[in-house]
Amino acid sequence: MTLRTVANFDRIGEENAFAVLARAVALQQQGKDVINLGIGQPDFPTPPHIVEAAVKALRDGHHGYTPATGIQPLREAVAADLHRRFGATVSPDHVLIVPGGKVTMHMAILMFGEPGAEILYPDPGFPIYRSMIEYTGATPVPIPIREENGFAFSADETLALINANTRLVIVNSPANPTGGVTPKAEIDRLVAGLEKWPDVAIMSDEIYDQLIYDGMEHVSLLNYPSIRDRLILLNGWSKTYAMTGWRMGYSVWPGKLYDMARKLAVNSYSCVNASAQYAGLAALTGPQDAVAMMAREFDARRKAVVAGLNRLPGVSCVAPKGAFYAFPNVSKTGWKAKALASALLDDAGVATIGGPDFGVHGEGYIRLSYANSLPNIEKALQRMDDFLTRRDAAR
Ligand code: PLP
Repeated sequence: MTLRTVANFDRIGEENAFAVLARAVALQQQGKDVINLGIGQPDFPTPPHIVEAAVKALRDGHHGYTPATGIQPLREAVAADLHRRFGATVSPDHVLIVPGGKVTMHMAILMFGEPGAEILYPDPGFPIYRSMIEYTGATPVPIPIREENGFAFSADETLALINANTRLVIVNSPANPTGGVTPKAEIDRLVAGLEKWPDVAIMSDEIYDQLIYDGMEHVSLLNYPSIRDRLILLNGWSKTYAMTGWRMGYSVWPGKLYDMARKLAVNSYSCVNASAQYAGLAALTGPQDAVAMMAREFDARRKAVVAGLNRLPGVSCVAPKGAFYAFPNVSKTGWKAKALASALLDDAGVATIGGPDFGVHGEGYIRLSYANSLPNIEKALQRMDDFLTRRDAAR
């Protein structure tokens, strides 16, 4: 029997972070002590008032379908939150509640990707951008993200890649996997350049917008009126409110794209879990101190990780300005990045991800998620030090 599945699936990729997680768990089940700096999710519990709101919603009988776009009070709360934080005017009628941040990129890339179309995306970057672009048959055009720019994207380099075939430009700040934050001046330049390409859509992935350090401020692309009619905003609850497993995201879509996205929702998941939507509402309208507490804690860990990494033989690490990742340069260790990540897991019991899992420009780097406790982070750094020193001595 030969099932004739569509060829697009020969090209779809995945996220190696989940494979590393599975391997780390398997090693743990064999009794190995593994410190997981691989997966990108907060290690804090969801704040209790958010959990209670979901329980209450279920007790109150919110068991049924909701509108495909999400419940009205939640869409209003998202619009109010964007106004409170960025002064941006967003109509709740353009806000779509989706099951996780990923769904927005999936939908946006489906809308613009087809053979002959070009889509720009950050490299190294979140692996699903490229995977979905490949899936649609469009040409993936990597925007190199460089250490010498502090892992900010370069407006000039991005603009130079745009041509008449370009349909969509994806940007991400604060960024996965680098922790890079692109400064306002660079975003200003990008937007000014994009004004010359009025038929190109932009998807701004701002899922880490509240995890930003060293006094930097998040600059939302919502604040640029000249591109609002072609801007898709990706955001969600996963990282800000420690809600990765709830599958709660939202997007803002311009013009007819909103209805296209709504139809994709109707054709796939119908609506997001009703009780999770009430939890999302409590998150946005309730106290925000847990968000500030988590950001402070991540910041302390960030400093420990960067200092520790810079002490390791052959390793150097620029201080990430956002998210909860460090992306050290390991090219002087003598290891290829993926081989180093595997050896660290197998021999040192530290799970990290090789930079090439985030794109060709990730060679020479590994990603560490510091969404883990300070004692675990210190222990992991010690293990990495022992491992690299031992290997050095053996040479
Ligand atoms: N965008 C970026 C840059 C991410 O790193 C992630 C998750 O790791 C997502 C989107 C997806 O988030 P979610 O878990 O809400 O789908």
